[in-house]
Amino acid sequence: MLSYQAARGKVIEIAQARYRPRSTETIDIVRDPAAALGRVVAEDIRADRDYPSFDRSIRDGVAVRSVDVANVPARLKAVGESKAGGSYPGTLALGECVHIMTGAPVPPGADAVVMVEYTKAAGDWITVERSARAGDHIVRAGNEARGNQIVIPRGTRIGYAELSVAAQVGAANLPVFARPRVAVLATGDELVPADEEPGAYAIRNSNGVSLAAQISLSGAEPVILGAVRDREHDLREAIERGLGEDALVLSGGVSMGKYDLVEKILLEAGAEFYFDAVAIRPGRPAVFGSCKDKLVFGLPGNPVSAMVTFELFVTPAIDVLSGATPRPIPLFRAKVTHDLNEKPGLAHFLPAKMGFSDDGPTVEALRWQGSGDAVTLVNANCFIVVGTAQEHVSAGEWVDVFPRRGSI
Ligand code: AMP
Ligand code: MG
Repeated sequence: MLSYQAARGKVIEIAQARYRPRSTETIDIVRDPAAALGRVVAEDIRADRDYPSFDRSIRDGVAVRSVDVANVPARLKAVGESKAGGSYPGTLALGECVHIMTGAPVPPGADAVVMVEYTKAAGDWITVERSARAGDHIVRAGNEARGNQIVIPRGTRIGYAELSVAAQVGAANLPVFARPRVAVLATGDELVPADEEPGAYAIRNSNGVSLAAQISLSGAEPVILGAVRDREHDLREAIERGLGEDALVLSGGVSMGKYDLVEKILLEAGAEFYFDAVAIRPGRPAVFGSCKDKLVFGLPGNPVSAMVTFELFVTPAIDVLSGATPRPIPLFRAKVTHDLNEKPGLAHFLPAKMGFSDDGPTVEALRWQGSGDAVTLVNANCFIVVGTAQEHVSAGEWVDVFPRRGSI
């Protein structure tokens, strides 16, 4: 049985070898910047000129010749000012200085800025109380980026920093890849839609909703196919519809039960499977394959299993289908508050709550009822990952923490 790392590696390998985004489009980031969030740039974005485009002061103060302030206090004559959006028209001579604001161009002749806190003004005369070296508080033209340099490489996912740079270099109509369309199909005789009253032994189809949300969060467009009964005919038809999209995510029907028909129907439709079990709990029966040239994921039906396996295995596939480099597994570390005892041989993902003490990050495993218990997840902002070889973890030890997206 594959480890979750190897299974994830397999997904990335297959997806990268065979799949590309379908097409590109542009987004007007001036009128609708939020529409660009989470999208992937389809072309290298280059600097349209040097950044900064002039030698820029990064403090409020006075622009000086450093030789004039080698010995302090030094008295200099203020001959003018340079403010953001303007400039001082002349060249600084020996014994002179210019009032300068943050973001303003450093005038020719000046080679340093002294912060206003270290100056005293009396009329046109400024007493400088601290010496400065050449270059102090100045960013030279082109030091952040040279004209034509790539500032956002193709394949980058757009967040607020990337949007800032796109706006800075004037990439107002940002070229992005089309979002992949990912179909979501829940399976199970017990399911009714969330807006219906379930019978005594029925349950509402929550995976159909949460998986669609995870698809959106990953940057793809969910195509909602609802739920289908555990009947070969119905399943075959619904799978056929799902294979019309870029990828298909199924929930349920991948365990060993009499009514777990997903793998059988996919096989009959010509699927090839790359794994059909992973050494994790929850989520062990997770299936990954391709069918009619589309990626297919069969996730276990228990809600927490579906969530965890989606994050581990479907997210990197969506990255590739979106034209992005797959994001690394977002693990960080925290000190666990209580002892843990888990069965070895499987990697365990335990719903947990991470917090911060004076000592650093801490994490507490929450009491839960197993992979059917999504209620506990509302209170969990992460999962503790207990590795395959670990049986016992003592309070105070550092453990791996897998954040629940959007909650840390
Ligand atoms: P399965 O993987 O099909 O054996 O399903 C395991 C359990 O997960 C079922 O008994 C249900 O309790 C639950 N389950 C299956 N599908 C869903 C769904 N779409 N939404 C919520 N719970 C589900
Ligand atoms: Mg089922």
